[in-house]
Amino acid sequence: MGASGISNAETISARRTFLLAWRGWTKACPRCGQRGLYVRWFTLRPNCPGCELRFEREEGYWTGAMGVNIIATELLFVALMITTFVLTWPDPPVREMIAGGVLFTIAFPMFFYPFSKTIWMAFDRAFNPSDQPGRTEQ
Ligand SMILES: [Zn+2]
Repeated sequence: MGASGISNAETISARRTFLLAWRGWTKACPRCGQRGLYVRWFTLRPNCPGCELRFEREEGYWTGAMGVNIIATELLFVALMITTFVLTWPDPPVREMIAGGVLFTIAFPMFFYPFSKTIWMAFDRAFNPSDQPGRTEQ
């Protein structure tokens, strides 16, 4: 079994990582895949309607989601600026780029907000799958 067992475990782990990422990017529960976690665009239910998972694991938990949102916004912003710069060289529309950049960095985080939370939950669960965080093992 040896080698094939290891490869099996790696496949399962890669599959789990992909599943968690998929659930995060599609606003699904990281534990059971349930949808409809938001009552409104900005309002996440406190618990999963499918498996009762409590989403906010601890005080300050959503700081991670804020980090996800900031990183995504900054990466996209830089990508958009570089693309616009390259495509319009040698005469880039600097004023429009500034105005567009300001609008983008205001609008995108609002659009991405619900995704940032489920992506953060999936990311967090990939490294800490325990259902009872903060509890030390006896
Ligand atoms: Zn669930």
